[in-house]
Amino acid sequence: MSLVTIRLKEHFKGHGCPVCSVLKEFEKREMENILYEHVNSPHVRAEIRKSLGLCPYHAWALFETAYSNPLLGPLGISVIYDDMLSTFIRSIEQEANLDGECLICRHSLEREKDVVDEIASHPEEFTRIYRESSAIFCKRHYELIVKALKERGIDTSELKEVHLKKLRSLERALSEFIDSYDYRSKETGKNAWALPETIEVLKGKRTAVSLGDGRCSALKKRRLLKFL
Ligand SMILES: [Zn+2]
Ligand SMILES: [Zn+2]
Repeated sequence: MSLVTIRLKEHFKGHGCPVCSVLKEFEKREMENILYEHVNSPHVRAEIRKSLGLCPYHAWALFETAYSNPLLGPLGISVIYDDMLSTFIRSIEQEANLDGECLICRHSLEREKDVVDEIASHPEEFTRIYRESSAIFCKRHYELIVKALKERGIDTSELKEVHLKKLRSLERALSEFIDSYDYRSKETGKNAWALPETIEVLKGKRTAVSLGDGRCSALKKRRLLKFL
């Protein structure tokens, strides 16, 4: 079993979508890498400049990462955005267009494709892991995995059966949560986890690939190229 598979399996141990979970961790690491290692790296700076400081989602996420970690703080990110501001001023003076793709969005999409391919390359193993786990794929990642499996000519009926079972179980848990607010209930708030999990199943975790629609033109364009 490859190291990638072993690492990926770890993400099936929690609740929610394991692919989203990989991507969330990946994005966090990407942002920390920029702030720890690449504040003054000319190559990374040039990449960040293309989108004038990442997409809106990652710009704010980078800001929050810097401020939430006492080892980082505002200096590094200020240096980066000072450059972005100068670039912006220059672009207005020169009437240049700055609408490049976000570096982290690009990397996240590449990582997502790798993870989906990894699962699709070991269908029996991952279907068994999925069946035995508490994880549940979000809509986007279930669809991408099914598509990748079908492209390889692999039967997806077992994965579908496991996935539907998990969805129905979640549906029952959410109903119990709603019923727990009945005045006769002695367990008000029971299964409170079912609401965020339902939103996650439908919309994915808060990552660039889930939240990208309508914000990052580069992300949309690449998504069309890669997955449609
Ligand atoms: Zn997901
Ligand atoms: Zn981005």
